[in-house]
Formats: sequence, C-alpha cells, structure tokens
Amino acid sequence: MIHEILPVGPLQCNCSVIGDEASRKAIVIDPGDDVADVLAIVQKHNLKVQQIIITHAHIDHVGGAKKLQAATGAAVLLNQNDYALLKMLDMQAAWLGMAPVGKVEIDESVGQADKIRVGSLSADVLHTPGHTEGSVVYLYDRRCLFTGDSLAWNFETEDLEAFRRYCWWSWSEQRQSLKQLLNYRFEWVFAGHGGSRYVPSFEMHARLEALLERMAIDLNARLNLVFAIL
Ligand SMILES: [Zn+2]
Repeated sequence: MIHEILPVGPLQCNCSVIGDEASRKAIVIDPGDDVADVLAIVQKHNLKVQQIIITHAHIDHVGGAKKLQAATGAAVLLNQNDYALLKMLDMQAAWLGMAPVGKVEIDESVGQADKIRVGSLSADVLHTPGHTEGSVVYLYDRRCLFTGDSLAWNFETEDLEAFRRYCWWSWSEQRQSLKQLLNYRFEWVFAGHGGSRYVPSFEMHARLEALLERMAIDLNARLNLVFAIL
C-alpha cells in the first residue's frame, strides 16, 4: 500500500493519499486545500484517484474536493447528515478569512457499515456523530483508523484525546460514537490534525476505555452543574 500524508491549508488538515500498488487505484481522504500538491503526490506514484472520501464537512477537510474532483473525475463521498454544513462552505470560508471554494457536489452518502472498495483497498465506514452530525471515521485494513476530528493522539499527554472545545454537534453523541470503536481493533490513529500514532491494538483499546471514562466524568460534571444552577 502507498500512503502519504500531506498537511494542507491554513489549518493544516492531514490529507491522505492511499494507493493500491497493483492496480494503481487510489483514495484521497480530506483534500481540504493545496490540491496541486495533492495531485503531485498522485502523479509521483502514477495513481488514478477513484474516490475522494471526506470525514466531515468542515472547510479545512473538504475545501479542495471540488478542484480534485474536476482534476481526477473521482467520486466524492460524505455522510448526508453533513450536507447542511456543506451548504455553508462559503460562510465557513468567510469566518476563516479564506476565499470561497465553490459548491462541492457529493456523489454518494456514506454511512454506518458501508465499505469503501478501490482496487485491493478496503475500508469500513463508521458513522461517528459528535464533532459534526455527519462525521465518519474510516477503518482501513482493520489496523488504521482515519478519525477526522473525532479522535486524535495528544503528543503532550501521549494519550488518546477527543476535543470538547472543538465539538460542534454533541459531546454526549461523540462519546457514544467513540464507544462503538471498542468493538473494533486498530493500532494506528491517523487524525485530521497533528501527528499519527501507532500503539499495539490491546493498548489502544485500553486507552480508548480510559478516554471514555474521562468523557463520562466530564459529562456528569456538567450535568451536576446544571442541577446546581437549577
Ligand atoms: Zn472539523
């Protein structure tokens, strides 16, 4: 498998180019910006992009999808629960002081238990509402989890982390979404921002359980605060 990660745009979203060495078919995850650089990687490996898969409809993840779609003819996939957010791309651009990126046409919605198949590449889709309503993660090869902004590795604490301050839809749903990941084994976290991290799958599982505990405490603390105010 060919896998290159390129941080793109002002928010340095990690765009992944994943290629099948035999068929040269490829997937691009979250082409938020800098499409010329993404295409340079595609050309360097002599790949043909078949699918552009988006973890969620924030502009730093989807902003370059229209250009990449035009350049490659690849299908763009996004969960339908983020279509409303996608319609607000120009507003998102204005908030960030970026130029408008145009209307991104989605070819297909991806959702829970869908499978992405390109050449010999295969990834499972898990719907993980929380950061946004239509957030999804992609589990490739039962080893590598592409998490968008739903889950990340914190290199300061050397632990898994979910970010409440960047949770735009529902923190309690984000916890439930991450809880379902306990049913899967993975050993790599490829997050939407920052570095990627490997730990053995049994340790990843334990760290995910610990993260869910921390999130539950956080939720209970907030609930108690509401009762205290009432
Ligand atoms: Zn986001």
